[in-house]
Amino acid sequence: KPKAIIIGAGVAGIASAIRMAVKGFDVAVFEANAYPGGKLAEIKLEGFRFDAGPSLFTMPQYVDELFELAGKNPKDYFEYEKLNEVCRYFYEDGLRLTAHTDLNKFAAEIEQRTQSSAKEVKRFLKKSETIYDITHRVFLERSLHKIKSYLHWDTLRSVFRFGQIDAFRTQAKANESSFTDERITQIFNRYATYNGSNPYQAPATLNVIPHFEYHFGAFLPKNGMYGIIDALVKLAKDLGVKFLMNSRVDEIVYDNKVVTGIKISDKLIASSVVISNLDIWFTYRKLLKAFPAPEKLLSQERSSSALIFYWGVKSSHPELGLHNIFFAKDYKAEFDSIWKAEAPYHDPTIYINITSKHIESDAPAGCENWFVMINVPANKGQDWDKLITQAKQNILQKVNSILKKTINDDIVCERVLDPRGIELNTGSYQGSLYGNSSNNQFAAFLRHPNFSSQIEGLYFCGGSVHPGGGIPLALLSAKIIDQDLGIKGL
Ligand code: FAD
Repeated sequence: KPKAIIIGAGVAGIASAIRMAVKGFDVAVFEANAYPGGKLAEIKLEGFRFDAGPSLFTMPQYVDELFELAGKNPKDYFEYEKLNEVCRYFYEDGLRLTAHTDLNKFAAEIEQRTQSSAKEVKRFLKKSETIYDITHRVFLERSLHKIKSYLHWDTLRSVFRFGQIDAFRTQAKANESSFTDERITQIFNRYATYNGSNPYQAPATLNVIPHFEYHFGAFLPKNGMYGIIDALVKLAKDLGVKFLMNSRVDEIVYDNKVVTGIKISDKLIASSVVISNLDIWFTYRKLLKAFPAPEKLLSQERSSSALIFYWGVKSSHPELGLHNIFFAKDYKAEFDSIWKAEAPYHDPTIYINITSKHIESDAPAGCENWFVMINVPANKGQDWDKLITQAKQNILQKVNSILKKTINDDIVCERVLDPRGIELNTGSYQGSLYGNSSNNQFAAFLRHPNFSSQIEGLYFCGGSVHPGGGIPLALLSAKIIDQDLGIKGL
């Protein structure tokens, strides 16, 4: 059997391993941590369970297709439920809105409770669908860097419709002109943060993102987000993939521009296919030190990071759902603070995810597991210890004031994750969540391709390379490599 080595057991690394095993390769995954999943990890703390990283699951079909590819029934490995609510929104002026996944219900709620009309919301989401139709094959499902991608009729048709993808104004500008009520503009501006970007800079093409939620749906795996990793690792192992944990790869080895394997503590492990799931920045800086790096690409602005408090809370709060957002009063000022001053904002938009609302075992009876996150800049050496103390005070003040109660004394245990920890735990440069930001129209073209044009047999998957960050796109990076290897007939 030909051999394939995967560096890193992030979700894309595991998906790549499954795809290579299905192709008939003898696959080994080398992972630096003691556990698989990378950013998709979990924390267990004093009777509470928390998903440590991603909390929103969209496009589950990209997970299902891995089981189908292997001739298995996804339901034998993995179950998830479709949510009725995308999010509950809380505003400083007292407004509360529930974003139902049923679009008619959501639009009606907006019409009833704000100055925006149902028609505005529906028109906006129709536009979102158009952007998806035009972009998904070109920007998401194929390599942007291979001529053959452009030889498909559907790609060419999409290229001719590029004028409609709204790439030449910012997302915030487009949304301001779409909604009468600025609180609804705020809801849709927030989607820029789904890939760690700034809606006041990023192109309105990012308005494609709500289509994922309102058309395909929002989901929660039965055992929480980490259930995705448990299921994929089980499938990979069933296909014969070997996982080597606590195995930090030191070098990618090549000879005469052909990959020959990897090195761990000077030990050479041979393979003619190597797929790096490690952040592309560290792949070049650490594993390919002697190779000329694509400096322009590596110097692109990184996406934002996160500061997360995992709180075990000894009370229950029926006004909160699975996903909750407490909006900053001045959204523009918040993004200016993150992107210009490179500091967390004093009145941050707070995201609270409570999986125990759906998964009882995630918290003791009468308690809730709060994952409390704010967007913060990527790590440039800020004084995070000081910023964490300030942020906690600001968060508590805002949550208490909006919920009209005091939750401080209900927090029975806590863990904190900041950009330094994200970099340390997952090898993500500057702790950014999604690789490079999408703060300009050309960002999609400035992500690294999924293959090396200079070293044969070397591939790259994961959130820092094409097509981008987030679980669905990371999974697509593995699919694009699969297509490429298929064509080469290896
Ligand atoms: P990563 O998760 O980056 O894993 C890379 C792996 O490589 C790690 O396990 C690391 O230990 C390993 N590694 C590093 N160096 C080496 C080495 N030298 N040798 C061997 N192994 C190495 N996405 C969503 O879709 N929805 C969300 O709601 C969402 N929210 C998020 C919230 C947070 C707080 C974070 C951190 C991320 C969030 N994301 C979300 C993004 C999502 O988690 C990532 O895009 C995705 O998990 C990235 O997967 P990846 O395959 O790129 O690998």
